[in-house]
Amino acid sequence: MGSLWTEVGILLEEQSLAPDAHAARSVIARLIADGTQVSRSLLVRATGLARSTVDKHLEVLLDAGLIEDAGFGKQDARGRPAQMFQVSAGKGVVLVAEVSTRTSRVALTTLDKEVVGRRELRIDVETGPEVLLAALVEQFLALLEENGLTKEDALAISVGLPGPVDSHLGMAVRPPLMPGWDGFGVCRFLAERLGCDVVVDNDVNLMTLGEARALKGAHLPLLLVHIGPGVGGGFVGENGRLLHGADGAAADIGHIRVPELPDALCRCGNRGCLEAIASTGAIAARLNVSEDDLLASVIRGEANTVSVVREVAIVVGRVIADLVNFCNPARIVLSGPIVQCTEEVLAQVRSVVYQQSRPLATRNLSLVHSSLGDEAGLIGGMVSAIEQVLSPRGIAYHTRPRDSPMLPLGL
Ligand SMILES: [Zn+2]
Repeated sequence: MGSLWTEVGILLEEQSLAPDAHAARSVIARLIADGTQVSRSLLVRATGLARSTVDKHLEVLLDAGLIEDAGFGKQDARGRPAQMFQVSAGKGVVLVAEVSTRTSRVALTTLDKEVVGRRELRIDVETGPEVLLAALVEQFLALLEENGLTKEDALAISVGLPGPVDSHLGMAVRPPLMPGWDGFGVCRFLAERLGCDVVVDNDVNLMTLGEARALKGAHLPLLLVHIGPGVGGGFVGENGRLLHGADGAAADIGHIRVPELPDALCRCGNRGCLEAIASTGAIAARLNVSEDDLLASVIRGEANTVSVVREVAIVVGRVIADLVNFCNPARIVLSGPIVQCTEEVLAQVRSVVYQQSRPLATRNLSLVHSSLGDEAGLIGGMVSAIEQVLSPRGIAYHTRPRDSPMLPLGL
C-alpha cells in the first residue's frame, strides 16, 4: 500500500516523435507548412531523427502529395546545395465555414494558405441545421466546381458555430442563439456529404486561434474576448493550443454573472449574465435602436451611445480583470463590430484591468484590438482545417493504403 505521497503521478511529456510514424510525419509536415521552404538538414536538426528516417518520412509525405520538392536552396554547412521542401499548393484544398446568426461565410484555401474562393450566404441560423448546412454544402460544391475541383479534392472541413460546441462529438449543445441545433450531428452531416475529416468548433475559439497563429507563437497565452450578437471568449495557452476544457465549454465567458443588472434575462435562460448586458443586441435594446443603427451611432460618437458603451466596457473590463488574475495572458485581444469602430471600449477595459488585476499579471500584458478584424474566424477556421490535415490522424488518413477501412472523422 502506498501513502498519499507515493500515489501521485508524474506528468508525462508529450512523446510526439516516437514511436508512431504518423506523429513523426505530422511534426515534419508542420515544420514544412510553418516555413515557406524548409531544407532537409533543418528537418533533421529540428526533429533529432536520423537523416535516413527523415528521408523515409519525406518520401511518404511526397507520395501522398502533401508536400512537394522545392528544388535547391543555399549551400549547407558542407558546401552542398540544400534540398528544399514546401507544403503542396496543388494537392487539394481545405473548406472553411463560419456560421453567424444572420450570415454565413465559406472559403476554400490551399494547404499553403492561398484563398481559392469565398462566398457569403444570407441565411439565418434559426433556419435550423439541415437547411443551413445543406446550403453550405451547395456553396462548397459550387466553389470546388468553379475552380476545376471535385469533392475528392477536399482534405478537411472546419466549421465555426456561434454557440457552445462539444469538441468530441462535433455538435452544438444547448446553444442559446441557435434554436434547433442542440445535439445535431454537424460533423456527421458534412462528412457524409463531402467525404473528408470535419472539425467543428465555437466561432470565438476559431477567431482566437487565428489571432494566435497570426503572431507566429509570440505573445502567448492569448485571451480573446468577442462582443457581437453574443459575448464569447477563447484562450490559446503557452503551448499554442486552444483551451477546450473537458467537453469544449471552456472560455464561454458570456454567461459569467455580473452584479450590474441582476435581473437582465439572458438567452441562456439565466439572469444577470455578461451577455445579457454587453452583447450588441443588449446595448441596442437599451438605447432603443437597431443593431445597425447602434454601430452608426458609435461611429458618429453620439453622447448617449458613448456613455452606455463606456458603462458596458467597464463591466466587461471587470470580468476580464478577474480572468487575468486567473490565467495571466500575455495578450488580450478585444474584437467585435463595436470594439473595432471606437477606441472607447479598449480604453475603458484597459483602465479597469490595470486597476483590478495583480501587478505581476499585468507587468507584460498587452491589450489590443484584433489584428485580423472580421477575417479572424475564417482564418482561424483555415488554420484548424490545415492543422487537422497535418495532425497524426490526418497524416494517417491521407497516407492510408487503398484498402484501408479508415473513415472520415465524423462518420
Ligand atoms: Zn447567459
